[in-house]
Amino acid sequence: MTAPRRKLASVLDGDAALRVGLDHLDPDYIGCRDTRHWWETMEDYHLVDTDQVGIQPRQGHSKYVRRVIECQRCHTRRVEAYSIVERQGWTMLHSIGATYDYPDGYQLKGLPSGVRSSAELVRGLIFDRMQERPRKRAPRKTSRPA
Ligand SMILES: [Zn+2]
Repeated sequence: MTAPRRKLASVLDGDAALRVGLDHLDPDYIGCRDTRHWWETMEDYHLVDTDQVGIQPRQGHSKYVRRVIECQRCHTRRVEAYSIVERQGWTMLHSIGATYDYPDGYQLKGLPSGVRSSAELVRGLIFDRMQERPRKRAPRKTSRPA
């Protein structure tokens, strides 16, 4: 049977394509892929009409809540949409989706279909680069014990 071998080969090809793509990314973008985004709220939770939230209205819902956050490192913007749900008198915001607006160059283009970013490869890239970096030499001591 050749199917498992072919599957492994495509995984390896995907890793190679991903590693090459990651290698060309801005270091800030690699940082966000490694330790996640540094989110800061740009527009706090606020009521919006259905047409402002960009979703199809659901039965019984005409008002939604939106929040906009932005990464302070890479400047990715995330627009979050919520419906207001009341349960036993408590207000709850039920997530109904989010859209991302990435800066140019953040997203990896031209990857084989089905290949997604891999945290293992991102960490490996950072580790490899640290090994390649020349080490700072400690100042040599000139005095000798008498
Ligand atoms: Zn970021």
